[in-house]
Amino acid sequence: MKAQVQDDYMDWPVPAGPICEMNYSPDQTCFQLWSPKARSVEVRLYDQGEGGDVARMSCGHIHHIFLDKNEDGTFGGVINGDLKGCFYTFVVKDENGNLLNETPGIFAKAVGVNGKRAQILDLSTTNPKGWESDVKPVLVHPQDAVIYEMHHRDFSIDASSGMLHKGKYLALTEHGTTNGQGEKTGIDHLVELGVTHVHLLPSYDYGSVDEARLDSPQYNWGYDPVNYNVPEGSYSTNPYDPAVRIREFKEMVMALHKAGIRVVMDVVYNHVFDLKNSNFEKTAPGYFFRWNNDGTPANGSGCGNETASERPMMRKFMIESVLYWVREYHIDGFRFDLMGIHDIETMTAIRRAVNSVDPSIIIYGEGWAASTPGYDANKLAMKANVHFIKGIAAFGDEMRDGLRGAWYDDKKGGFLVGIPGHEESVKFGLVGASDCGGVDLTKVNYSREFWTGEPCQMISYVSCHDDLCLADRINVTLMARRGKKKSAEAHEAECVRLQKLAYAAVFASRGIPFIWCGDEIMRDRKGVRNCYNSPDSINAIPWRLKSEHKDVYEYVKQLITLRRHLRWHEGGEYHFLPVKGSNVIAMFSSGVVIILNSNRRTITQEIPYGVWQIVSWSDRPPMPVSAGALPTFKGSSLKVPAQSALILVERS
Ligand code: CA
Repeated sequence: MKAQVQDDYMDWPVPAGPICEMNYSPDQTCFQLWSPKARSVEVRLYDQGEGGDVARMSCGHIHHIFLDKNEDGTFGGVINGDLKGCFYTFVVKDENGNLLNETPGIFAKAVGVNGKRAQILDLSTTNPKGWESDVKPVLVHPQDAVIYEMHHRDFSIDASSGMLHKGKYLALTEHGTTNGQGEKTGIDHLVELGVTHVHLLPSYDYGSVDEARLDSPQYNWGYDPVNYNVPEGSYSTNPYDPAVRIREFKEMVMALHKAGIRVVMDVVYNHVFDLKNSNFEKTAPGYFFRWNNDGTPANGSGCGNETASERPMMRKFMIESVLYWVREYHIDGFRFDLMGIHDIETMTAIRRAVNSVDPSIIIYGEGWAASTPGYDANKLAMKANVHFIKGIAAFGDEMRDGLRGAWYDDKKGGFLVGIPGHEESVKFGLVGASDCGGVDLTKVNYSREFWTGEPCQMISYVSCHDDLCLADRINVTLMARRGKKKSAEAHEAECVRLQKLAYAAVFASRGIPFIWCGDEIMRDRKGVRNCYNSPDSINAIPWRLKSEHKDVYEYVKQLITLRRHLRWHEGGEYHFLPVKGSNVIAMFSSGVVIILNSNRRTITQEIPYGVWQIVSWSDRPPMPVSAGALPTFKGSSLKVPAQSALILVERS
């Protein structure tokens, strides 16, 4: 029954050309909508993005037409005259004769407030000055990427951000901002830190923030897509004028590029917020989703539905959507939400399509689903299958949870708080989930096999927007482990040591390092676990922390610099050194030794006999690498202080 239903969908005709629902010229506008089973498709014109009456058009044009059915499953038609600035929707009458609600289509490129209606717009007029000469910063190899995940509001909304356009795209165009104590914030902070990529939480048009009442603060991560191919309106200075969000998004990309930073989009093709009222369902009912035998939607997303990337039109939609962001907005990377819901063939096709434009674009995703998807597990882009998909990476949860503790219990600690038994999970992440020897797979938390084809197919991280952020998790797990709090000062000092140790592991990995915004200045979120819609008081980064935790910031910055110079994440000789006892990991990679000690005592670690230079102690302020200031020692063992990381370089 299930197979039969899905086979029927597979037989729907799919047009050969690109999806183009509206094509404007000053003489006429062509409309087209794909809806193979529809009885009729109507286009309605409006003079504004919401409200108004279709019958009282002020611009003097025909206010609605019915489109003609074509053999390829589309309906098409033309309206003569210059319709620039008009808004439009499609109305589909389904195969049962039901009139579906209005939709701007599945591929609207400009929309009015809250994305209800699309606008007839000449996109070339939205380009900011200098857009034609926008140049992407160089990225030679994906393994050189250092990713910084951020939410627009977290990043700029706090009073201490010093930014003018708080919570907006334009905040990322502001230079010269400080936290009031003279420390750089905003884009200058990112440049100073040394990240190569900014990864934006959902910035396509989503539904959970009401763009019509932006005078009252609203917060959401935005994992509830409405229009996949339009920037979100609440991050623009005027969500009513469709050109404004487009232009300001481009200004943001251009400013980041000028600052040497690439831009990654978080894309959520795997589900929609409200299936029934989604543009997919209002266009071609049934087709874009997977269904259970009983007719209910499959729910691999945990959000009530999942899309069907294996169906030709959904696959085509995803490929063209990604390419559209690359070409129109100069996007440099994509993070696929719940990538494990998508099929391998589609992800491979996306990689291939992107390569034809720019192979340096990075693609990674969550190699899992929220629950079992309604499709053959062997064909899904799950973590275990990532080695089949060259050029696409997945998040490494083995090291993440090995370090901080299992995701399903906030109080469970891991390596960081000194609980023995997590060393192999951390080592699994250090090698980038790929076989370098020396990892006992029987002791790794979530995987019994290495799952990457090469280390840069793993995103190395300890914290992201999900769950407790790192500072909160360290705080909670330390308290749970110790039973009672030490003095506030001693507790704080211990949290600082572990924050640094965590990021030492992230950057020691051969995978691609990834930072959650604010971890580098030790922000917390007041212990709130799932703060997807929590107020700014929870989510905003208080930039004063950059002054208060200057040592953490300088340490993370130093890790980025050292990795770039010493390149321990590249090929070359790689192995783990023997250690005594638990809670210690020592790795040797291309002439660099990195030792992680989460014990609450100093340990002595054996290293290969030679002359060594210590380039970084996590428990001391970073030293200038120049001027021969670095201490050198000769020998085969050294002391590693409690809860700290050490980085040494072999002198030839
Ligand atoms: Ca929106």
